[in-house]
Amino acid sequence: MKAVLLHKYGTAEELIVGDLPSPAPAAGEILIRVVAAGVNPADWQFRRGDFASLLPLAFPAILGWDVAGVVAAVGTDVENFRAGDAVFAFCDMSRSGSYAEYVVIRKEHVAAAPRRLPIRHAAAVPLAALTAWQALHDIGELSAGQSVLITAAAGGVGQFAVQLARAAGAEVIAVARPQNHAMLRELGATECVDYLDPNWSKKYVGRCALVIDGAGGETRERAWQVLQQNGLMIAVAMPPIDQSDAQRRGVRAAFAQVMPNGERLAHIAALIDAGELVVNIDSEYALEEVRAAHARSESRQACGKILLNVSDQRPLRRYVVTGSASGIGRATVALLRAQGAEVIGIDRHGAEIIADLSTGQGRQAAVDAVHRRGADGIDALILCAGLAGGFHPGESVIAVNYFGAVDIAVGLRPLLARGREARVVIVSSSASILKADQALVDLCLAGDETGACAAARCHSPEEMAVRSGPIYAASKRALTRWIRRQAPLPEWAGSGILLNGVAPGLVKTPMTAPLLASEVGRQVLAKAVPRALPHAAQPQDLAQLIGFLASAENRYMVGQVPFCDGGKEVLMRSDDLLQDP
Ligand code: NAD
Repeated sequence: MKAVLLHKYGTAEELIVGDLPSPAPAAGEILIRVVAAGVNPADWQFRRGDFASLLPLAFPAILGWDVAGVVAAVGTDVENFRAGDAVFAFCDMSRSGSYAEYVVIRKEHVAAAPRRLPIRHAAAVPLAALTAWQALHDIGELSAGQSVLITAAAGGVGQFAVQLARAAGAEVIAVARPQNHAMLRELGATECVDYLDPNWSKKYVGRCALVIDGAGGETRERAWQVLQQNGLMIAVAMPPIDQSDAQRRGVRAAFAQVMPNGERLAHIAALIDAGELVVNIDSEYALEEVRAAHARSESRQACGKILLNVSDQRPLRRYVVTGSASGIGRATVALLRAQGAEVIGIDRHGAEIIADLSTGQGRQAAVDAVHRRGADGIDALILCAGLAGGFHPGESVIAVNYFGAVDIAVGLRPLLARGREARVVIVSSSASILKADQALVDLCLAGDETGACAAARCHSPEEMAVRSGPIYAASKRALTRWIRRQAPLPEWAGSGILLNGVAPGLVKTPMTAPLLASEVGRQVLAKAVPRALPHAAQPQDLAQLIGFLASAENRYMVGQVPFCDGGKEVLMRSDDLLQDP
C-alpha cells in the first residue's frame, strides 16, 4: 500500500511517499481503507521528535491519528461493522497512523461516520472533538452558567470546544485573531477577544471556572488571571502545564491527553448529524502534498482542520441538491445520505450553501460555492427549489422555478462534465399540463428573465387570484420544454450527462400544507387535480424516483419527465400522446 513514511525525526522533508505491505486485521480489529487523514499539530511535533523520550516512534513510522474511510475487512469478533461501512476513528498512538491507504484499528475505537458530512471531512473530527470533550466534560466537569475561556479558539480543538461549551450552557469567551471572530460567534462564542491585544485578559480577571488552552506561550500566561480562585487551566496542546505555576496562583492545572473512544465518537457523530456541531475545514491536500499540509499546520494560521486526501478517487457519488432544506429536496437528501453519498445542499437556510436562487447574483454565488467545494467534479445535480403559485409574487415564481433551475444547471455543467455517470434531475410539475400563460413560457425559453418577470407581475389581488395558476404552470411547462430541448444536445447527452425531470402531482410538503390544511383548499385541489390514487404522495415517494434518475443505474433515460402523480396525467391526457410521427 501507498503510505507516507518517516525514516527519522526531522523537518517535513523527511516525509516520503513509499510502499509498505498492507496490514491485516487480527481478532477484534478493523481494516479501514483510508479516504482521508486529519493533520494535527501533534503530527509535526511527533515528526520533529518532540516526544521522542515520552513516546518514541518505531521507524519507518506512519503518522496521522485521525482517519475517515470505508471498512475493507474485519477480524473475528467484530459484530458491529461490515465491509463497506463508512467509519471514522482516532488511531491508537502506539500503533501505525493514517497517512496510508490502509490502517488497522481496534473495533472499540471505531464509529460510524456522520452522515451529514462528506466522508473525508469526518477525518477532521476525532482528535480535536475528543480532546475538546475530554477537556470540558471529563476533566473540567463544566456545568451550565459557568464561564469558560478558550484560547486558539479558531483552531481545530478550539472550534469544537466553543461549540460543546456553548451546548453545555456555558458562557464562552473565545481568544482568536479578529478575522475569525464572526465565525466563532456563529459557533456560539459569547464574546471574542484579539490575542494580540496585550490587555485582553484584564477585562475578565477572576471570571472563569475553566480555561481551555490550545495556545501556550504568552496567551497562556495572560489567561491565568481570568481564572476564579481554584479555577482550572486545562492544556490541550503541548507542553503540559507546570503544576507549581498553578499552585502559586491559587488555581489548578491539568493536561488533556486524548484517548481513542468509539462510543464517544458515535455520540459526536450524532451531534454533527443533528446540526449541533459544525466542522470547518481549513484546507485539503493530496497524500503527495503531505509536506505542504504540515507547513500549513506549522504556520499556525489554519482556521479549522487540515485534511490529507488519501484515496485517489472520491469513493462515493457527490450530489448537489437545491431546495435541500424542505419537502421533496429534503427527503431526497436524506435518501442519498442514507446510501452513503456526499450531498451538498443549496437553500435559503439550513443548507451547506446558503443562496437566494431568485436572483442572478444569488445563483452565481451558489455556483461559485459549489466550485469551491467540488472542483474535482460533481456526479449529479438535483434541482428541487421552487415556489408555489398563489403564495408568492408571480415574478418570484418565475425567477426561482425556471431561472433558478436552468441557470444552476448551466452553471454547474462544467463540474458535471468532470463527474462520473453524471445526471441532472429537475423537478417540474404535473401542473405543466394545466392551463399555462403561453407568452410567459416563450419568454422563459428565450432566456428573457427581465421580460418574463415583468410579464408575471400581478398588480392586484384579483389579478393574482386569476393568474397565479397559469403563471406557476408556465414556469413548469417551460422547464419541461427546456429539459426536452436540451437533453439530447452535444453538451448534455453528447457529453455523457443524462438530463431528465420529474413531474410530481400533489405531494404532502410544507409547500402544499396551507392548501391541505383547509377543507376549501382540499376541495379546490380535488377539483383541479383528478387522481386515480385518492391520497397525496409523501416526499419520500418522489425521492425514490429522483434518486434512481440521478443514479449511475439510470443508463439510458434522456430528456424524459415522468409523471409521478397518482394517475393525474393519465386521466387528463388518456392515450393521446401516441401519434404517428
Ligand atoms: P418546499 O416548499 O417544501 O421546498 C422548496 C424548497 O425550495 C424550500 O426549502 C425553499 O427554501 C427552497 N427555495 C424556495 N425559494 C428559494 C430561493 N429563492 N432560493 C433558494 N431556495 C429556495 O416544496 P416542495 O413541495 O418540496 O417542492 C419542491 C419542488 O417540487 C418545487 O419545485 C415544486 O414546484 C415542485 N412540486 C411540488 C409539488 C407538491 O405538491 N409539493 C407538486 C409538484 C411540483
